Amino acid sequence: MTVKDRDHQLGVFIQGRLRFIRHHCEKKGLDPERSLAAIAAEARRGAGSADRVEFLDKRVFGSGILPTSAVPDWVDKVFLEAMTRVLDSGSGRLFTTTSKQPCISFEAGRFNAQQQAETDYKSLYTGKAPTDWLRTTFPILYRSCYGPDAAKDLRVEQLAPSRFRVSMANRRLEKASQADCSTVIGYVFGSLEKLGAPRPLVTHPECCVAPGATCERCVFEVSWG
Ligand SMILES: [Zn+2]
Repeated sequence: MTVKDRDHQLGVFIQGRLRFIRHHCEKKGLDPERSLAAIAAEARRGAGSADRVEFLDKRVFGSGILPTSAVPDWVDKVFLEAMTRVLDSGSGRLFTTTSKQPCISFEAGRFNAQQQAETDYKSLYTGKAPTDWLRTTFPILYRSCYGPDAAKDLRVEQLAPSRFRVSMANRRLEKASQADCSTVIGYVFGSLEKLGAPRPLVTHPECCVAPGATCERCVFEVSWG
């Protein structure tokens, strides 16, 4: 498959999701191989076409994905939904609007941030204060994950010394979903933890992809201390 406009450098994030599944299963006493097989089956069901099933089998659940792999947006969406349904069976909470009520997609985002801060993106975290990270690093990571067009619509506003408002026009994105927004909450929360921000809090008071929403932008409130 060739790299298209809507392919983004999501390989590192997909790899992180696979590692998260293992980590989560070990913590909960579940068999990771069985869970992965169930997630792969669920993702195939949700893929929607034979081409997409082939892509999932070869590139995601095969061994073909590298940190720098460009991956179409639908992969992250289908994978996240499948993972959430399999790992979260029971609670029924597929997304969250606050770091005070974690869910699977929140934990997946948080896990990715904490792992990437020590590995692939270490240089983007080392020596950074939380305010600098939000102002300068988060837009770089957002751009690599969502693409340059989406990044043009990203706003990071500092409202007080340790209070920010981050907003983006998610409605236009193919992979936008409330579960995806929950990974953003988790990613920012996990990053703040890693950067040593005391008592971080991330909430998502306005979500433009929630059913019936009329707002144009997804708004995240970020604070600590
Ligand atoms: Zn949202």
